[in-house]
Amino acid sequence: MVPALCQDCLRVWEFVDWETAMQATCTCGGQICSCPKCYRRIQSLHARRWEAAQLGLPNGVVLLGWNAYDGAQFTDLRREPLKHD
Ligand SMILES: [Zn+2]
Ligand SMILES: [Zn+2]
Repeated sequence: MVPALCQDCLRVWEFVDWETAMQATCTCGGQICSCPKCYRRIQSLHARRWEAAQLGLPNGVVLLGWNAYDGAQFTDLRREPLKHD
């Protein structure tokens, strides 16, 4: 089986082969990918190594919870500087 990762919600899917995986879309409508990079991200998720850099998330986006079936809950700690007038 080929594991594949949704780029939006980080659900993990299993496919019979690589071609099927690359053509699939997630139930959330997100893109599914099964490249070696996403394979490593899946392993990081399972190992609870949830740092943004490890998962390819933007800095300041924090993963609060995750499982393979429901995907991820994020919080966005990025701050936009206030514009002074
Ligand atoms: Zn998804
Ligand atoms: Zn990928």
